[in-house]
Amino acid sequence: MCYLLHIMVGFSCGHIYLERRQKVECHSKTCAVSASHERQEHECEEKCTQRLGNAQELVRESLNYICDRCRLGA
Ligand SMILES: [Zn+2]
Ligand SMILES: [Zn+2]
Ligand SMILES: [Zn+2]
Repeated sequence: MCYLLHIMVGFSCGHIYLERRQKVECHSKTCAVSASHERQEHECEEKCTQRLGNAQELVRESLNYICDRCRLGA
C-alpha cells in the first residue's frame, strides 16, 4: 500500500512545519494508486487496495534557529 510521507523541518523553538509531501510507492500490481497497478482489465474494486495508507512523518532536519512565527512574535 502506498502512503504519503510528510517531510517536516524542526526549529529550535520546538515548532515543526510541513515542508512537502511525497508519495512512497509500494510497487504493487494490486494497489490502485500505484504506478505499478495492473493495467489489464480486472475487478479492481474487489481485488485492489483503493487508497493510500496512513501518512508517515519524517523530520528532515532540525534547524538551530527559531521559526518565523516565533521570531515575529505573532
Ligand atoms: Zn501502493
Ligand atoms: Zn486494480
Ligand atoms: Zn516557533
